[in-house]
Amino acid sequence: MTEHPTSKRIAIFGSTGSIGTQALEVVDAIPNTFSVEVLTCNTNDELLVGQALKYNPNIVVISDEKKYNKVKEALSSTDIKVFAGEKALQEVAAMDCYDVMLAAIVGYAGLKPTLEAIKNGKAVALANKETLVIAGDIVMRTAYEKHVPVIPVDSEHSAIFQCLVGEMRNPIEKVILTASGGPFLGRKTNYLVNVKREHALQHPNWSMGAKVSIDSATLMNKGLEMIEAKWLFNLRPDQIEVLIHSQSVIHSMVQFEDGSIKAQIGLPDMKLPIQYALSFPKRIKNNFPRCDFQKLKNLSFEVPDHRTFKNLGLAIEALNKGGNLPCVLNAANEIAVYAFLRNRLGFLEMTDVIEKTMNKVSYIEQPTLDEYYQSDGEARNVAADMIQL
Ligand code: NAD
Ligand code: MG
Repeated sequence: MTEHPTSKRIAIFGSTGSIGTQALEVVDAIPNTFSVEVLTCNTNDELLVGQALKYNPNIVVISDEKKYNKVKEALSSTDIKVFAGEKALQEVAAMDCYDVMLAAIVGYAGLKPTLEAIKNGKAVALANKETLVIAGDIVMRTAYEKHVPVIPVDSEHSAIFQCLVGEMRNPIEKVILTASGGPFLGRKTNYLVNVKREHALQHPNWSMGAKVSIDSATLMNKGLEMIEAKWLFNLRPDQIEVLIHSQSVIHSMVQFEDGSIKAQIGLPDMKLPIQYALSFPKRIKNNFPRCDFQKLKNLSFEVPDHRTFKNLGLAIEALNKGGNLPCVLNAANEIAVYAFLRNRLGFLEMTDVIEKTMNKVSYIEQPTLDEYYQSDGEARNVAADMIQL
């Protein structure tokens, strides 16, 4: 129990995932700062129950309704409220019992609860980049209208956000998003054609959930992050540059109109951007390991290999054309990654599925929210038919 009179009340949507569990490590590491009011997960009832017994939240939600009774039973000696199902996620997101949502669900499933939080005036610490890829215009417009801060958790965007503190009147010339390059940096198509899920899941610098690990291996992750950056920082596509920096020490950079470049630097550890997003505008003392410059042998930079990692080009096309194309790209990618993780699709075949889906679903220049939902559904069907899922 982390209750404290001045503590910030947080809701962790996706608490059993890589970001969610690291957020709870942050809560443990800086006591009396946060009280955990909401925990949610998809299917991992055992971990959810363990977390609930430790943090004593007001509410837990399990999306998988079949697991409701199990969770309810396990928490019957507590006064923790238990809900189940996708709708419950949105209902709880709208409740008054918390101040900040950590949006750490993966994929499209994170969009509706996050939007519900914003509509209800909740600050959002955003890990779920797909929310902005799918409907960034509507999400950011709603946040603006409701005076709600959307604070990035994604390390690159957290870096840019940190570089911008104190610079609100100074226009950005460009941002430089750094990318580790993933486990297949330097590899060519003839190698990639045979790679399997186990290998693709081995990221050199970060330990992450399965979906974002595969996205990092294909460089789709960087493409999604370019679109995320467009919406977070109100940038034109030509202001967003990607640079491979395999040490993942510089988390991203901002270049201002006088030519000055600011970078944010730290060890590759998501706990720092998670903590910053939850404690913003404060920086709170912690004992996490520090980046030691004397141990950094060299920092390298290179341009991405677009010919090999074609997903990045598809994402850039979606970024440039806008409309519902990023939403379609995201949906097709979710289906393709799902199929790859189940050994139903080859590594390079993911690109074909995404490209063909982008060509097949009709383009809408200025979609409504419903049209985004429809485009997502249509793209999923088209992609799944192609793979015969
Ligand atoms: P993960 O797969 O480890 O965890 C996902 C969480 O979402 C789990 O708690 C799961 O129960 C929940 N979830 C999954 N599907 C759901 C559904 N259909 N309905 C409700 N809940 C569902 O993922 P992660 O690596 O923690 O990533 C979460 C988000 O953060 C992603 O959008 C990812 O791109 C982003 N992100 C992650 C990292 C990282 O280091 N892991 C870094 C930057 C950004
Ligand atoms: Mg990132």
